[in-house]
Amino acid sequence: VKYVYDFTEGHKDLKDLLGGKGANLAEMTRLGLPVPPGFTITTDACREYLRTGSEPAALREEVSAHLAALEQRMGKQLGRGDDPLLVSVRSGAKFSMPGMMDTVLNIGLTDDSVGALAAQAGDERFAWDSYRRLIQMFGKTVLGIEGDLFEDRLDEARARAGVTSDVELTADELRKLVDQFKDIVREHTGREFPQDPREQMDLAIHAVFDSWNGERARLYRRQERIPHDLGTAVNVCSMVFGNLGPDSGTGVCFTRDPATGHQGVYGDYLQNAQGEDVVAGIRNTVPLAELERLDPASYAELLRIMETLENHYRDLCDIEFTIERGKLWMLQTRVGKRTAAAAFRIAVQLIDQGLIDETEALARVTGAQLAHLMFPRFDADSGADHVAGGIAASPGAAVGAVVFDSATAVARAAEGERVILVRRETNPDDLDGMIAAQGILTSRGGKTSHAAVVARGMGKTCVCGAEELRVDAAARELTTAAGTVIREGEVISIDGTSGKVYRGEVPVVPSPVMEYFEGTTRPGPEADDLVNAVHRLMSLADDARRLAVRANADTAEDAARARRFGAQGIGLCRTEHMFLGERRELVERLILAESDGEREAALAALLPLQQGDFTELFTAMDGLPVTVRLIDPPLHEFLPDLTELSVRIALEEKPSETDLKLLAAVRRLHEQNPMLGLRGVRLGLVVPGLFTMQVRAIAEAAARRRLAGADPRPEIMIPLVGTVQELEIVRDEAEAVIAEISREHGVELNIPVGTMIELPRAALTAGQIAESADFFSFGTNDLTQTVWGFSRDDVEASFFGAYLEKGIFGVSPFETIDADGVGSLVRAAATAGRATRPDLKLGVCGEHGGDPESVHFFHRVGLDYVSCSPFRIPIARLEAGRAAT
Ligand code: PEP
Ligand code: MG
Repeated sequence: VKYVYDFTEGHKDLKDLLGGKGANLAEMTRLGLPVPPGFTITTDACREYLRTGSEPAALREEVSAHLAALEQRMGKQLGRGDDPLLVSVRSGAKFSMPGMMDTVLNIGLTDDSVGALAAQAGDERFAWDSYRRLIQMFGKTVLGIEGDLFEDRLDEARARAGVTSDVELTADELRKLVDQFKDIVREHTGREFPQDPREQMDLAIHAVFDSWNGERARLYRRQERIPHDLGTAVNVCSMVFGNLGPDSGTGVCFTRDPATGHQGVYGDYLQNAQGEDVVAGIRNTVPLAELERLDPASYAELLRIMETLENHYRDLCDIEFTIERGKLWMLQTRVGKRTAAAAFRIAVQLIDQGLIDETEALARVTGAQLAHLMFPRFDADSGADHVAGGIAASPGAAVGAVVFDSATAVARAAEGERVILVRRETNPDDLDGMIAAQGILTSRGGKTSHAAVVARGMGKTCVCGAEELRVDAAARELTTAAGTVIREGEVISIDGTSGKVYRGEVPVVPSPVMEYFEGTTRPGPEADDLVNAVHRLMSLADDARRLAVRANADTAEDAARARRFGAQGIGLCRTEHMFLGERRELVERLILAESDGEREAALAALLPLQQGDFTELFTAMDGLPVTVRLIDPPLHEFLPDLTELSVRIALEEKPSETDLKLLAAVRRLHEQNPMLGLRGVRLGLVVPGLFTMQVRAIAEAAARRRLAGADPRPEIMIPLVGTVQELEIVRDEAEAVIAEISREHGVELNIPVGTMIELPRAALTAGQIAESADFFSFGTNDLTQTVWGFSRDDVEASFFGAYLEKGIFGVSPFETIDADGVGSLVRAAATAGRATRPDLKLGVCGEHGGDPESVHFFHRVGLDYVSCSPFRIPIARLEAGRAAT
């Protein structure tokens, strides 16, 4: 294997091997852009290092050879001679990951070479500033020393010198700081700061490798579902300096606005500074447009490069650059993160620019982003108490109690409280708190600050750089420009779309995208370009998809909404939801019935109510299929809780006859494992008349609608079938009832009868079950429960945290289909069912039907439709379209 690639050797499609940063540095080099020379150590080397615990011998040799070539090319030696070569060591995994060691700059500086650098640059101050940065970064990221120790010394130095920014510190002051920093290293590691340049470089490389398994990196990977075994690449790049004076600087920019997607010049620039100053938000940057005034030539070149990159990558790019004494250098580019709104707008703009085709455009947006756009926003007219403004860094409307540190955010969120994490600026240590919070508010840093970048990646609301706010984390309070003090625990509202901060809870209004789906906002020249972009991409998805999308809905209202959202029918009507409220009593009567007569009377009372329900549903879904599932849950769910009832009766002096009967029934129906007990088809088989009452109501409603000239399309679905015999019996009964009603009304009723596949045995014998079923609908909730042996009602709150923590799975199998286990049963059952009956209709109605990743799986397995809750229908439509392209 080859462990090291020169920047001239790679290209952008080698991300697996060179990481994102390395692959893109190579690509820019190939494009002839000004990239400082360097090389990339592959992820293979990292995996090998992590596996064996030491550097593969071949790696050391290859690094030596590449370093020698770099030295030759630059005419300098690493950290030696009159003009020492300095390098940066930067991590670069396939996916960019906060929590990993990021960058060590100025490697090669030592007590010896610092003087040579000063002489070479003609700038003492610059050399000592570079050296103190090296020790600080190296100390923190490679040697694991608390960063504050260095920051505190720096604060003291500034205070001593009576200055506010480190640019104003003199060479002498910086030299003293270097001594203090070296003391810190000695004290905390028991050894001197390494004076061998190669050793500095090797230690930094190992630190990058090790940081792959850092706690925060692992947490982030779990969150983002990034596999743990990819490893990271390491980039070694010759240094260029942005801190060589006012004609130098460093910046970050985007080829379009990552918040809105609109075209323009977006970025931040910091004069006389090195890379990390910008991202850390330590000093205040100026908008990129200012660079035009400061250095017109570099600005013009940067704009040209931005255009080259955007046309080459055919997407929004973000860029890190440095200007060294008027010469522009590209330090990084990648396809940039963006908000959901920007993603939709940019995808459509790029089609119109002819840069991408429609298929590609669909690949550029996700169901998760669409979900984000459907969130409500704050009501601007609510008279909310506007207390501050900041930069709109990541959109959304977040309300919560103010907390000032990550641990408090995590603790309060665990208690179910909504919190807003408020910091001066965030760093990777705040990641857990950011995950736990509804939103993030910082008083410093721009659109490219840590808080902004990470929040956008997570789809969290974020307002950053609200500079008029004074955040005092120690005192646990926040002071506004007007002097209002907001203490920890007080509620604020932050608007990541406008950057506004409000005191108290602000009411929210629906999003325009939601209004578009609701049909109250129409696309067109007058509409928001976001609405038009969503409309266009939804149409593309609808044209492309093979999967139909139905809704899980039990009321006419839900059915109507689902239809507006694009549902092509109802895939699951849970009829038990029709027995709640005041109807519960009727079910109770049914359960308590002691004679055939009493039971029949109870059923007779339920019949017209059910019939009314179905009439409403068929009306709302006229012309589209409505899959009605016969009653599924154990009957005790309609009765009082055994313990509560026993206690109540025990306290009564003379319990009533009815109460005693009720208690006896509750006792009789009590089960240790009700989810595995008398429910689903089993009820139909042992409670006489229950299923047939429901079938009668369905058939009657359908017959009457038909006679009224409408087009009702009911389908009857039997739950929890484990063997074809169960299905045969209830099916025969159902068909007899349907035939009877058909005769009575003189209309032909064509009502398919199918079953849910939600038990392993049903999946395993799907070939037999298909003999008696017109359709299958996979109940992946119960199927997941029974395949894993996980109680769906308990485990997520009980031990899933530990499972996720240990990486046993990256996401709950109740959320995303477990393709290897549950999914393989689905696949086998689909195949076996179709082998018996080639026209067998196949759908899924478990929660997975609306989960993006699962939708792709169901597409691959060849199902006909997915069914999900009404609000997830647009997401399922989009993902079904994406799956098909
Ligand atoms: C299922 O089990 O996946 C299903 C849809 O049925 P329910 O969630 O009602 O048990
Ligand atoms: Mg079920």
